[in-house]
Amino acid sequence: MKLLLPTSTAGSLPKPSWLAEPEKIWSPWALEGEQLLEAKQDALRLTLQEQQHAGIDIVSDGEQTRQHFVTTFIEHLDGVDFENRKTVKIRDRYEASVPSVVGAVSRQKPVFVDDAKFLRAQTDQPIKWALPGPMTMIDTLYDGHYKSREKLAWEFAKILNQEARELEAAGVDIIQFDEPAFNVFFDDVNDWGIATLERAIEGLKCETAVHICYGYGIKANNDWKKTLGSEWRQYEQAFPKLQQSSIDIVSLECQNSHVPMDLIELIRGKKVMVGAIDVATNTIETPEEVADTLRKVLQFVDADKLYPSTNCGMAPLPREVARGKLKALSEGAAIIRQELSA
Ligand code: ZN
Repeated sequence: MKLLLPTSTAGSLPKPSWLAEPEKIWSPWALEGEQLLEAKQDALRLTLQEQQHAGIDIVSDGEQTRQHFVTTFIEHLDGVDFENRKTVKIRDRYEASVPSVVGAVSRQKPVFVDDAKFLRAQTDQPIKWALPGPMTMIDTLYDGHYKSREKLAWEFAKILNQEARELEAAGVDIIQFDEPAFNVFFDDVNDWGIATLERAIEGLKCETAVHICYGYGIKANNDWKKTLGSEWRQYEQAFPKLQQSSIDIVSLECQNSHVPMDLIELIRGKKVMVGAIDVATNTIETPEEVADTLRKVLQFVDADKLYPSTNCGMAPLPREVARGKLKALSEGAAIIRQELSA
């Protein structure tokens, strides 16, 4: 029988301090050359073991081999200058030092496929692999070549599709595209954001997911959330079109957020990966708090379509906090499984 409520993480997990400076995003590597390659693989093994120990059902690489979920992918492409970085405002919210597009973009070789094969060789559990979505990619770089967000998004969608097909062939079960930008640029989402996402998943036979969130638990995001009022209705903009799309799973934030739960009705029929762990606080949820959130979501989603997860990536959190939160997630899901079988 298929396991109900399979747990997973929405994105990154903290890196060990011997790999990169902890508790920050874009943290520089602590090693280089051969040593760095070996350390990344060791960290990947470790993050897998931590997920297994916590009882997570759908495991991931915890993004141990990437400095950042968007820029690391972009930096592996031709047409990108990642040494001469530019500072731009991303998500209409905060400044970041990002790579520049200086010519036609293309992917000469796979970016994460070897890492995915390595993870696949370590476990028989289902694997989820995250890639940046086209719209979030163009929002995390400086474009000095195409001068058109839409044009560049279509180019990236083609490249992402090449990578996704190879990840699928490497044995990845779920390919997830991260699109936090979907919560910010509503007109673009509906004009071409979802269309380029569909291009990125074209021809895939594995399951596909889109993760739309309110970002890492960093100050710029936490300050932004304070301006969003008592009801966060951003999902209302993208959900109707996503419901019509061929994406299988929609990943969204719930725990401690002000997202009205009934917005989930707008993606009726989709599987829902629901954030039941807050990544913006070091306070570890109790399993009962996780279960409470899942119970509320179950008013709008069938149990066989509910995937408990985290709100977003946990890279900026202390490792012991992340471990505690993963454990709370799997114990919370276990409470609900018990209730459903009673
Ligand atoms: Zn996220």
